[in-house]
Amino acid sequence: MKKKQTLSVSMMDQQQALYSALSARDRKFDGRFFVGVSSTGIYCRPVCSARTPKIENCTFYPSAAAAELAGFRPCLKCRPELAPGLALIDLGNRYAQVAVQLIEQGYLSEHSCEQLATRLGISDRHLRRIFAEQLGASPIDYAQSHRLLQAKRLLMDTALPLSEVAFAAGFGSLRRFNELFKARYRLIPSALRSAAARHGGTASSGLIFHLGYRPPYDWPRMLAFLQARAVNGVEHVAGNQYWRSIAVQQGGVAYCGWVSVQPDEARNRVRVEVAPALSRVTTEVLRRIRQLFDLDAAPDRIADALGSLVADAPGLRLPGCVNSFEQATRAILGQLVSVKMAAIFAGRIAQNWGTPLAQPNGSITHVFPEAAKVAQLQPEELRPLGIQLKRAAALIEMARAVTEGRLQLDNVLDIEQGIKALTALPGIGSWTANYIAMRAWSWPDVFLAGDYLIKQRFPGMTPRQIEQYAERWRPWRSYATLHLWHNGGWVPSTDAEMVIVK
Ligand SMILES: [Zn+2]
Repeated sequence: MKKKQTLSVSMMDQQQALYSALSARDRKFDGRFFVGVSSTGIYCRPVCSARTPKIENCTFYPSAAAAELAGFRPCLKCRPELAPGLALIDLGNRYAQVAVQLIEQGYLSEHSCEQLATRLGISDRHLRRIFAEQLGASPIDYAQSHRLLQAKRLLMDTALPLSEVAFAAGFGSLRRFNELFKARYRLIPSALRSAAARHGGTASSGLIFHLGYRPPYDWPRMLAFLQARAVNGVEHVAGNQYWRSIAVQQGGVAYCGWVSVQPDEARNRVRVEVAPALSRVTTEVLRRIRQLFDLDAAPDRIADALGSLVADAPGLRLPGCVNSFEQATRAILGQLVSVKMAAIFAGRIAQNWGTPLAQPNGSITHVFPEAAKVAQLQPEELRPLGIQLKRAAALIEMARAVTEGRLQLDNVLDIEQGIKALTALPGIGSWTANYIAMRAWSWPDVFLAGDYLIKQRFPGMTPRQIEQYAERWRPWRSYATLHLWHNGGWVPSTDAEMVIVK
């Protein structure tokens, strides 16, 4: 039941501000709010190309789930499922961030909401309150909307049979899928498929999807970063296309295959092709691609905070990963050697102990080995690959800590504690641990004050002074680090100048 309420002045201001963003089709708000239109019963992204509705017909929602709960159906034109997700920082509460990550990984398909709260170390009531405040929906409602939108994506973009769509979207049964679909969208799934075809849908026989991002996006720099570090057999960059292997564990089954990613800059989205072997885990594969390419970033907010530092490359993104163990391994292998050498070592590990793909794609032949596999090795076995004994020992010890549950590399709630847990292991120093937080956990606020290149940007300053200087870049110090790496011409300003600039 909808509550009738008088809008306060600040709510009216907010309504007006959101309406202005909607009228301007401002891309920086894409995915940050959705608009429900009472005259049509449809909800849209703020960038929808349909005619702007009248303000009195608009209600704004912080998430797709909230719009659906209010009875709106997703637009077939702008397709809410293609919108970029919320940047980590948009969900101001770290519990909400990690809960959303876990839900999008399918946690609530196998666990209860109470178990999710326990996993986060808070009460069920507290978790529900956080979700209500930040997303306008309960965790269960959020999970259901997420599954439905993934199903909608698969119905519109693929020719997969309905039972496969239900499974891949995370529904326990086809019946459950049909029921929820009808209840929320007031359509049966096959009717949505035909409606999509009428809207110019292009379901293809392959698995081709699109993921939106908020421009600007510096593709040349992102692709160059990945190319310089590409691991032989696992990753490949050619032109503006990126290929790699991915393994996803789901329901006790390991799905292994390749993906390819290519920007479609004119439409502010990427085109992702997924190997048929991964069809049942597309939701998770797409989530990892979003993380690897930092597609949920909010460049306007980063620019606001970093000021002139971003002027050189306003679309710079934080490269993430698709597998935290692989990324942590690469960080350890990169200690005191060149980027190129680290990639060569990682490639040798993949060739020796990775899982060969049943259907390789060109040079993509293996998935990187799991922690359990590396945990069984002895340091001497890595020596013929050119890897120092001490580094091999550090790597194997990290793999054992992960396998034995002593170290968590996924969905880390407390980043500071996570970094501490890493540095408590032998052979992992502060740089490596912080770099893992930056790349494997996509934490936006890591500053590598002790990094060789960073130190060079601050001539005559101690790491402590550099760290103090970088305080002004919170909570985006990972992006500041990247900008400093890329921008050789940058010089620190004096604090007096900073005051004037402000
Ligand atoms: Zn729309």
